[in-house]
Amino acid sequence: MTDRLYYTDANRLAFHAVVQHLDASRLQVVLDRSAFYPTSGGQPHDTGMLAGIPVVDVTESGDDVVHHLSAPLSAPVGERIEAVVDAARRLDHMQQHSGQHLLSAVLEDRYGWPTVSVHIGTDSCSLDLRADAIAPHDLVEAERIVNAHVFENRAIRVGFEEADTAAGLRKPSERGGLLRIVTIDGLDRNACGGTHVSRTGEIGPILLRRTERMRGTTRVEFRCGHRAITRARHDMELLLDVASTLSAGVEDVPALVRSMSEDRRALDKELTRATEQLLAYDARALHADTPLDANGRRVIVITRDDVPVKALQPMAQQVVACGNAVYLAVSTSPPAVLLAASADTGLTCGTLLREALQAVGGRGGGTPQLAQGSAPTPESALACRAQLLAVLRDASATA
Ligand SMILES: [Zn+2]
Repeated sequence: MTDRLYYTDANRLAFHAVVQHLDASRLQVVLDRSAFYPTSGGQPHDTGMLAGIPVVDVTESGDDVVHHLSAPLSAPVGERIEAVVDAARRLDHMQQHSGQHLLSAVLEDRYGWPTVSVHIGTDSCSLDLRADAIAPHDLVEAERIVNAHVFENRAIRVGFEEADTAAGLRKPSERGGLLRIVTIDGLDRNACGGTHVSRTGEIGPILLRRTERMRGTTRVEFRCGHRAITRARHDMELLLDVASTLSAGVEDVPALVRSMSEDRRALDKELTRATEQLLAYDARALHADTPLDANGRRVIVITRDDVPVKALQPMAQQVVACGNAVYLAVSTSPPAVLLAASADTGLTCGTLLREALQAVGGRGGGTPQLAQGSAPTPESALACRAQLLAVLRDASATA
C-alpha cells in the first residue's frame, strides 16, 4: 500500500521514499509513499523523476501507486530514493480540477444543472451537465460568477470525515469509511481524491469557451489558469489574423464579415442567373447551327472525356426546349450516356437508352424526354452511341 502524500499536501512535490516492488523490466515501481497522482477521478497523472529517471505514467493498482519509468531503475527493493513531481503540470491540473469543482457548484446551485461527468484533457477540459441547452447569455453570466468567486479568494480545504456522518456533500459518496472531502468555503463540499489549490485565487481566470448539445446533456468546454490565458491569446491571434486579412480594426470585423457574406450571397444569385442566361443563349445557338437530319430533327451529338454526362444535363434540357431536337451526350470518363429529346420528336428516351445500354452490358433509363445511364467501358459507351445514332436515323424509331 502506498501512502499518498498528495492526499494531505498537494504542494509537496519533492520527497524520499523506499522502493517496495519492481516488475521484471524494472520499469514499474511501487514506493512506500508517493506524491505522484495516478490517473483517476477524471484527473490525469503527474509526471516527474524517480532517482533521476523520467516518470512517464502513473497508475493505480489496488492500494498501490505504480510509477512507470522511461528507463529501468537500478536501485533495488528496500533502497531509499529521491523523487520529484513536475511542478508546472501539477499546478495546471490543480487549477483545472479546483476550477471544475467551483464551476460545477455554480452551475448546479444557480442554474440547476448538475454535473454528470468531467473530462480534464491535455488541452481543453469539459463538463457534461444535465441540461437540455445553455443559452449564450447564461454561459457569459456563469463565467462572470465563477470568476467573481475566484477573485473572492475563498479557502479550499481538504479534510477527512466518516462517510456515515459526512453531511452536505454535493453528491452522496458510494464509498464507506473515511472520506476525503474537498471544501470550497461557503460554496461546495465534495468527496474527491484529486489535487487542489488552497485558495480560489490560485485557480486563476476561468474561460467558458463554448457549449455543445449532446443526447440529454450539454457539454461545456472550459479552461482555467494558464490554459485560459493561452487559449484566449490564441483566439485573439485568430481574430487579429482575420482583421489583418480584411485590413480592418478588430472591432469592425463582425460587421464587415456580415456585409461581405451578404454581398457574396447576392453575387452568387447574380452569377446563377447570368450562367443560366448564357447557357440558354449557347443552347439556342447550338440548336440553330445544327442542320435538320433526314427525319426533320436536329440531332446534336457530344462526346467528352473530361466531364460526367450529368454535368451536360442542363445544356441538354435547354437544347431540347428549343423544340424538334435530340441531344445525345457520351462521356468516356466515367463511361456514361445521356439522351434527351423534345416531346415533338415522339421519341421515348428512357426505353431507347435502356435497350441500347443493355446491348453493351450497361444499365440506365429515365423519362421519355430525358434518360441517363452508365456503360462498363469507354468503348461500350461509344458502341451505345453508334447504336442510338442508327436508331435515330431509322424513321421507325418515331412513335
Ligand atoms: Zn474532484
